[in-house]
Amino acid sequence: MHTGVTKENISIVLNRPRFPENIGSAARAMKNMGISDLVVVAPEIFDKGRVKALATHAALDVVENIRLFDTLAKALAPFSYVVGTTARLGDKRQALSTPARLAEKLVPISAANRVAIVFGPEDRGLTNPELSYCHSLVTIPTADFSSLNLAQAVMIISYELFRAGIPAPKEFAPRLATRFELDPMYGQLTDLLVRISYIQPDNPDHWMHKIRKALSRVSLKAAEVSIIRGICRQVNWYAKKCYSDGRKGLLPDPALGIDNDFHGPTES
Ligand code: SAH
Repeated sequence: MHTGVTKENISIVLNRPRFPENIGSAARAMKNMGISDLVVVAPEIFDKGRVKALATHAALDVVENIRLFDTLAKALAPFSYVVGTTARLGDKRQALSTPARLAEKLVPISAANRVAIVFGPEDRGLTNPELSYCHSLVTIPTADFSSLNLAQAVMIISYELFRAGIPAPKEFAPRLATRFELDPMYGQLTDLLVRISYIQPDNPDHWMHKIRKALSRVSLKAAEVSIIRGICRQVNWYAKKCYSDGRKGLLPDPALGIDNDFHGPTES
């Protein structure tokens, strides 16, 4: 079973890059995402100092191992699967994928094949003949201005390739209360609300229906049912105690704005 993209079989190919800084930034992005093979084809300037400055110390090994070629055809010769990246949406002949869908597709392909992901020069991108080398094309979705910085495009693709390998975190599933636990809680609540005259004894179901609906949305856990039942029990105890003591009990803090007259529920 595949758990993700086989990153050892992925190479990033920069075709005719103009700026050494973009090569360095691309190397850094690759390092962040665990991809190490960088192929550079016919760079306009290959100034290692300028490349390294942007690669930072962490990605120096990626820079040191850059493989240089003078033509794209030679660079792509050993690859079984070639992906082209393009900001342009014009080419209707080949289906355009998103980075996330590409990554999913590459999970099985990269397990058994060397895969090249080709990026074009900063000014004009990949030409149609260059795109015709590709088995599939990918476009990073954007707002109206679709052309990303070369190294940032490398980052987004590399991130998606990395992410495709991360298993989704297991959702924590709490133990929800059973009907066996819920029904006595509602029974207890009905009894209490009738006895404290919040709802009328002749038609308690009308109000209980609303309360049930609200509480059902919460998906109560067993422990929460115990809390509600505990509150009911305690209110019951307190009302009974005040009654038998012949006292009114503690009155609410006036700052809370709660009056002590009976109101019952109101329709809203
Ligand atoms: N004007 C060029 C953009 C060049 S940007 C064009 O229209 O294609 C340099 C490279 O970065 C592109 O060749 C491509 O490899 C990559 N890139 C930039 N924006 C992209 C996007 N939205 N989707 C996919 N790749 C993109």
